[in-house]
Amino acid sequence: MKMNPVNINWLSGFALGALLLFSLQPAAAADKLKALIIDGQNNHNWRATTPILQAALESSGRFTVEVATSPAHGQSMEEFKPDFAKYNVIVLNYNGDSWSAATMTAFEDYVTNGGGAVSVHAADNSFPHWVEYNKMIGVGGWGGRNQDSGPMIRWRGGKKVLDAGNPGPRGMHGAYFSWVVETRSPDHPIMKGLPRKWLHAPDELYSMLAGPAKSVTVLATANSDTTHEDEPILMAINYNKGRMFHTTMGHDTRSMEDVGFVTTLNRGAEWAATSQVTIPVPADFPTADKVSVWTPPAK
Ligand code: ZN
Repeated sequence: MKMNPVNINWLSGFALGALLLFSLQPAAAADKLKALIIDGQNNHNWRATTPILQAALESSGRFTVEVATSPAHGQSMEEFKPDFAKYNVIVLNYNGDSWSAATMTAFEDYVTNGGGAVSVHAADNSFPHWVEYNKMIGVGGWGGRNQDSGPMIRWRGGKKVLDAGNPGPRGMHGAYFSWVVETRSPDHPIMKGLPRKWLHAPDELYSMLAGPAKSVTVLATANSDTTHEDEPILMAINYNKGRMFHTTMGHDTRSMEDVGFVTTLNRGAEWAATSQVTIPVPADFPTADKVSVWTPPAK
């Protein structure tokens, strides 16, 4: 049968309408990004914080979330083999024993080939001797890190500065308090639409982190109570074809139950997974002088 142009137009109009209607439906599970949270060892209370990370990611409507819990400290890690390639983003709530060589290689391959990862708070204390991991997080602290780990990143005079510093240990924090976060890369997809300054819930303010510090975009800083430097708080790192979103926030549940933490976590995880951000900035985002407490939606 021959179709005249009128029929073709009618058909394509119908198809377009159907497509629009379909796109207005909530994303089905199959369309969501798959996130995997890794926990099991941490000098922080991972049993309390992983459920908040999970609820935060799920609340965006953008992710399905699974959790891989490692064996306890001192146990064999040989059987800990998450299938990284099944996921769009790996969220590290982990600070503990080294993984097996096979699992470390699998993680390197995953990010090298375009996978996304997120380092939350003390995850940047982990793996001080794993060279590729330290490239992925850009900078880290504690675990014997010192001047030989690489430079510190500071924000001075409106730009990122690499600071070799004096010899000594790297990684420090002072009081647990509420501090102002300053956006430094307002055009980055994660930061677009966020206020220039916003008050974060009580947390530790990490300072003096050091590492390879390559391909690091400083997204936000905070002025440290210990060093009085503008220290990087949110970072975006490119590693081969993959991406790492590094947040130093999130000491405990109170630090995480914060609209600023949750919004940047979700947007950072989406960027790590896809290099783009569609998750909106909520109307109750904190301001320069007011913290905004986040409550998980009822299930
Ligand atoms: Zn902490």
